[in-house]
Amino acid sequence: MPQLTVEELKERIVNKLKTDKGIDILDAQNKDIYYVIASIVNEEIMPHWLETQKKYKEKNCKQVYYLSMEFLVGRLLESNLLNCGMLEHSNQALIELGLNTEQIYAVEHDAGLGNGGLGRLAACFLDSLASLHYPGHGFGIRYRYGLFEQRIIHGNQIELPDYWLNDHYAWETRKEEEAICIHFHGDVHMFKKNDGTLEFKYENTDKVMAIPYDIPVVGYKNDVINTLRLWSAEPVFQEGNHLTEESHYYHVLDHQHSIEQISGFLYPDDSSHDGKVLRLKQQYFLVSSSIQNIIKNFKQNHQMSLKRLPEKVVIQINDTHPSLAIPELMRILMDQEHFSWDDAWEVTTKVIAYTNHTIMSEALEKWPKGMLKHLLPRIYMIIDEINERFCKGIWFDHQELREKIPEMAIIADDQVHMARLAIVGSFSVNGVARIHTDILKKKEMNLFYSLYPERFNNKTNGITHRRWLLQVNPKLAGLITDIIGPQWIQRPKQLISLLKYTKDSSFLEKFDQVKRKNKQLLADFIHDRTGILVDDQSIFDVQIKRLHEYKRQLLNVFHIIYLYNELKENPNLDMIPRTFIFGAKAAPSYHLAKEVIKLINKVASIVNYDQDIQGKLKVIFLENYNVSLAERIIPAADISEQISTASKEASGTGNMKMMMNGALTVGTLDGANIEIKDLVGDPNIFIFGLTADEVLHYYHHGGYNATDIYNTDDRVRRILDQLNHGEFGSHEIEFKDIYYNILSHNDPYFVLKDFEPYIETHELVEQAYRDKLTWLNMSVTNIAYSGKFSSDRTIQEYVTDIWKIKPV
Ligand SMILES: *Cc1c(COP(=O)(O)O)cnc(C)c1O
Repeated sequence: MPQLTVEELKERIVNKLKTDKGIDILDAQNKDIYYVIASIVNEEIMPHWLETQKKYKEKNCKQVYYLSMEFLVGRLLESNLLNCGMLEHSNQALIELGLNTEQIYAVEHDAGLGNGGLGRLAACFLDSLASLHYPGHGFGIRYRYGLFEQRIIHGNQIELPDYWLNDHYAWETRKEEEAICIHFHGDVHMFKKNDGTLEFKYENTDKVMAIPYDIPVVGYKNDVINTLRLWSAEPVFQEGNHLTEESHYYHVLDHQHSIEQISGFLYPDDSSHDGKVLRLKQQYFLVSSSIQNIIKNFKQNHQMSLKRLPEKVVIQINDTHPSLAIPELMRILMDQEHFSWDDAWEVTTKVIAYTNHTIMSEALEKWPKGMLKHLLPRIYMIIDEINERFCKGIWFDHQELREKIPEMAIIADDQVHMARLAIVGSFSVNGVARIHTDILKKKEMNLFYSLYPERFNNKTNGITHRRWLLQVNPKLAGLITDIIGPQWIQRPKQLISLLKYTKDSSFLEKFDQVKRKNKQLLADFIHDRTGILVDDQSIFDVQIKRLHEYKRQLLNVFHIIYLYNELKENPNLDMIPRTFIFGAKAAPSYHLAKEVIKLINKVASIVNYDQDIQGKLKVIFLENYNVSLAERIIPAADISEQISTASKEASGTGNMKMMMNGALTVGTLDGANIEIKDLVGDPNIFIFGLTADEVLHYYHHGGYNATDIYNTDDRVRRILDQLNHGEFGSHEIEFKDIYYNILSHNDPYFVLKDFEPYIETHELVEQAYRDKLTWLNMSVTNIAYSGKFSSDRTIQEYVTDIWKIKPV
């Protein structure tokens, strides 16, 4: 893109305000300025968007489609400016116009169309695809309400609807002419044609229109603009639908409302299954509109038989949520394109690839057979047939697995097992970190692995270093570029050159100043939001992620209570002050998770105001954790808490974001923590606790007794008793649930078991922090090795091993 100069930008902003809005720059509000800049960026983007689409068509190239129920995009103005190469000039122009850049970017409402890691991964992947010149697009749902907005009132989480479309969304374009019709319910009729083949007709279906809204995905300074297409559900416009009676009128409104519900809101359940028909409708809505669209594109772009679809199309499904793509593609190929079963199956299983994100049994999707059959009769028939053929295949060709059929069947116990469908119907199954893929192969999916070893592969997650370093931490990015040059921006592995400077005291001093400055900025923000003053010389100890038992925020809280108890006994204890920072949303129906949020806030309200401890501890819970909040916190983190019960966190990506910004990890040997440790080495990370093998061994063979620890460890007993006696509550019974969950359910996530090693590890953290140069050295070493965790590397692996697409 041609660079607009600062002067040109200023002129355009001023003129546009006048001509588009009739506002003089002197009277303009931040909102006016925001929309004007977004519109200038859009004007720059649009021609290249068209150009990119044309090029893909001309070159006849293979394209990848990433199907995901979630895209956690966050804000786009700053990252679009960055990727268009306009950010510096735009910042300068705004400053020269006397405006506050930060306030202007903050006008944009986060697009919070995701719960957490899985949705953010999808957004990072789109950024990397475009930045690496790959033809790859996202398909998702345009929820009218994103993930709920969290407020903390008297320590409790309160959920408010997130109506992110209240103001016009600057980045979307409605494409009404590309609407697609989706069918639910109805009857399926089977006819025998003259040639003896079967034909299927559907009648009395409920029709819903899927209207696409396109969002440009801007590659980094390369003029590539890909598309994120989000579908919105609307009623089919029916002519001659005369409204004669009042009751009819209400019926029509009701009908319209129930259809709009399909893209009404994002389910807030993170990694736990919610058996709602509406959720199933959403999944089929996404899948059917996307697959129909993909077939239409193929026919428009290529003059070849659909049998050759796998040469031009690959579809990656993000977890099992879009796994109905498999029967949907079968349906279209057979019922509309008149393929035989075998031909349709051949094509489908060469086009679809599946990413697994979790082994937690409560998160493995299953749908009641009757529900699926009623909502999607033809799709159910196809799944049934896939299942029959699959089970027969095992019976006859894999006699060693005969007795395992009940554990492998796609339809079993009146349930449709979506992960099994996804494995059987795809050519690739990948996990998201080495340990996760190993557990899939050796344990969770071992039977399928023995059947299809060639399908299983690992793709360790990544994050876009453009957003998570270059954009959110410009001071650090600038310092890195000053010392090793700018090559790392294109090739993040070049960050490894920083290793040469880990002992360079003048560089380390500069690095320290950057971190200090980032901490001051966060301290100001915290003061602004909470009224609490935090010491920017203290250790910023950060745990930001969804609230879940397996992520063990509770272990972190126990550590805080332990320190508080120590300080109460000995207020003159020589310790480095700590600021514990939390951000976390709990699923609205997840009682224990909400109790933990309340506990964090209660502990905060006691610790933060206790004069005895001389300000040595501060506990900050920042409400409404989302992408924008993550962007503020991460550059200021000293410690990154990644303390999941080993084997439970498939990969994690928060760990990568913080590592890349120089935080040191306190973590278990879980997910990608293991790969971080392998790179930086034991001296540069704080690892503690049970291993995955140990955890799995206890689950299968017993041998762990939480009460023993309660009885023998005074520190643990004291904390649990404090909870049981309501010392942190406003009344007696507060937090008893947490107490009982640990002691009567035998501490299912091993909080007590890992307590002692966790406390000891934090003592090592403190020792390390006292030696400034060593700490800075460790910190820079982490940044140096973080290049591997750029999603550019992840995408390149998907391309080479799974997608086989070429850069354009
Ligand atoms: C990165 C990110 C996550 C994932 O964090 P984990 O620590 O890997 O669970 C969740 N939410 C937001 C807003 C993120 O940016």
